[in-house]
Amino acid sequence: MALLKIKNITYRVPEKEIFSNLSLVVEKEEVHAILGKNGTGKSTLAYLIMGCEGYVPDSGKILFEGKVINGLKLHERAQLGITLAWQEPVRFEGISVRDFLILKNKEADPSPYLEMVGLLPELYLGRIMDKTLSGGERKRIELASIVALQPKFAILDEPDSGIDMLSIQDILNVIATLKKNGASVLLITHREEIAKIADRASQICNGKIVCTGAPDNVAEYYKTRKCEICSSEECVYV
Ligand code: ADP
Ligand code: MG
Repeated sequence: MALLKIKNITYRVPEKEIFSNLSLVVEKEEVHAILGKNGTGKSTLAYLIMGCEGYVPDSGKILFEGKVINGLKLHERAQLGITLAWQEPVRFEGISVRDFLILKNKEADPSPYLEMVGLLPELYLGRIMDKTLSGGERKRIELASIVALQPKFAILDEPDSGIDMLSIQDILNVIATLKKNGASVLLITHREEIAKIADRASQICNGKIVCTGAPDNVAEYYKTRKCEICSSEECVYV
């Protein structure tokens, strides 16, 4: 059953149309990778699904569990169980890592979430979410917090970017745990080796999903068909 359905969304910024009639379906408990080169609109898609300030489709519908959510604000979508791990984590400046990880459940033990992303709880639980944490540390803590939130739908925007030491295995653990807890995952990446861990993958290009299928097939397509040539309409749906 579809958890998220995007039907023909178009989204313009003053200079250009980022999406033209983009459609995408993410099933329940599915890990769905979105592959696309830099600048193809992957983060924009994440913001449109999450309902970030200012991100409203010009046309088309976004449905979650069968209900149109276009008009819902970010916090209302969060209440439905949608969450986003930002490419550049920005949230909750100034609170402790411990408090950040128990936002949903004050009784929870936050340590396993940190261990899952390769951080020692005794070193990090008392730290403050501020500039003293490196970008990679923030990114790991952000991923840990997504698992702690126990969402129905987790959007991970390039979970591997900016993290020197976070191995693919750590990311796999995070995704496997989300899935085990019943979540669907939209795994945004520009690396085909990350996309390969998904159940299905879609390639985004030229404002549309041009190809959806088994990750190996889509990754092969992604490697061999450069996005630039899509403007000549050589991409096909499979
Ligand atoms: P990706 O995450 O795939 O690298 P983005 O979603 O960040 O791509 O951006 C897609 C394209 O849209 C980029 O060319 C970016 O510069 C442009 N873009 C995104 N938001 C805006 C905006 N508010 N105004 C103008 N251009 C934007
Ligand atoms: Mg991006």
